[in-house]
Amino acid sequence: MLEQTRGNLSNYIPKDFTESILNPSADFGGLYAPKTLPILSQEALKKFAHLPYIELAKEIFKVLHIALDEDILQKALQQYEKFDNPNNPAPLIQLHDNFYIQELYHGPTRAFKDMALQPLAPIFAHLAQQQKEKYLILVATSGDTGPATLHSFADKNNIFVVCLYPKGGTSDVQRLQMTTMNNKNLKVIGIEGNFDDAQSALKECLNSATFKQELYNNNILLSAANSVNFGRIVFQIIYHAYAALQFNEGVDIIVPSGNFGNALGGFYAKLMGFNIGKIIVASNINNVLTEWINTGTYNIREKILHQTQSPAMDILKSSNTERVLYALYGAQRTKDLQMHLDTQGYYYLTKEELLMLQKHFSAIECTDQQGAELIFKYAQKGYLFDPHTATAIRAYEYFKNSSKRMKVVLSTAEWTKFAPSVASALGGENLNDKQGLHFISQKMNKVIPQSIAELFNKQEVHLATVKKTEITKTILEWITSITNQ
Ligand SMILES: *Cc1c(COP(=O)(O)O)cnc(C)c1O
Repeated sequence: MLEQTRGNLSNYIPKDFTESILNPSADFGGLYAPKTLPILSQEALKKFAHLPYIELAKEIFKVLHIALDEDILQKALQQYEKFDNPNNPAPLIQLHDNFYIQELYHGPTRAFKDMALQPLAPIFAHLAQQQKEKYLILVATSGDTGPATLHSFADKNNIFVVCLYPKGGTSDVQRLQMTTMNNKNLKVIGIEGNFDDAQSALKECLNSATFKQELYNNNILLSAANSVNFGRIVFQIIYHAYAALQFNEGVDIIVPSGNFGNALGGFYAKLMGFNIGKIIVASNINNVLTEWINTGTYNIREKILHQTQSPAMDILKSSNTERVLYALYGAQRTKDLQMHLDTQGYYYLTKEELLMLQKHFSAIECTDQQGAELIFKYAQKGYLFDPHTATAIRAYEYFKNSSKRMKVVLSTAEWTKFAPSVASALGGENLNDKQGLHFISQKMNKVIPQSIAELFNKQEVHLATVKKTEITKTILEWITSITNQ
């Protein structure tokens, strides 16, 4: 059962995993989180040690007492058959004696969001159908969540997806992955402005009573599949557990972080007893997380959001840190700290609290320039990665002698999604996505995956740019037109 991170109203009935998936927001603005996690015995860990990925996933669902029909879980995990290697969706690649990369981008949209959204979609659709309800899932994206949500929910019964993205704020590949999706239940809307504008437009929809009422008049409920949805977090525990099980000496995992979902999955895996030492968090110059872990201050006052080459990490208010507070300090303290952050723009941890945090986490930031130099340096040895992964490579180089454990960098996107930045690091200036892909592919002798190459020949079917004030109207007109067909 799940509790609420800011405490419960007196009439709160604990929710299970499935209920939290359809309705992810909790009382007092909090999130759902497990009160405690089961701690695995040495025998259990031994038993898990050599399981294939999918079998391990099933065992973890069992251990977490997640009530889900076996055939639905099976169907969810079958989505990994769409990955490059169906038996191992998150392969570990050795770069040095004590250094591995876990590549999380082998799914349909070439970023790590597929790891959780691919299996979540069939579960979501099943639950909706079971309750005989229709759902509208709204997403705002900086470029990776949008494509992953659209691809996973395409043609799912009883589900509609509307995706808001900042027009001009994504790479061409990311835009095409959205605007070429020609499925009846999907709608993509470009917003004038940046990701923050898209996100605040989304919040206005979610908070609008009239919008909800009009949807309800069409028998449709509103939901979200963003990174606070606990259903996604569960699938993000599994690959960390899998990595830890491959090495007797245990692992330190190094995670490029924004909303902290990926890092939280590693933290939960550690609390369950998987052999994880430190979770090393990498930030770009939007360094709130680094500051939080190194000083105990979470401070967004007077901070402006910088646009970097790792846009999925351009975040000031990171949602999932709240679940870390809850796990370490309990609900009352979490409520006090988060309320302080909401109203004052900062909070301070006490010295003791900071020590508890640093028992699990370390952190360092990385500039675009440092990232580009690392892309260049590793490319000389034949290994390519994207600018998000580059921040974690920087953290690896900084922390590589900090312990005897194996170091595992989580690679969160394929180079193909950020070709202009990667090409620029390799000497190809001012190229667009298509030119950048060809430049890199020739220079590095790399094949461009077909799913990326073919995007440029597909027709863009979602071309509309919509003013902020027109969004709810546009969505309602679309919904009415397709539900009345
Ligand atoms: C979403 C994303 C991240 C950040 O992940 P969080 O779980 O939000 O911390 C990092 N890199 C890439 C490429 C992403 O798409």
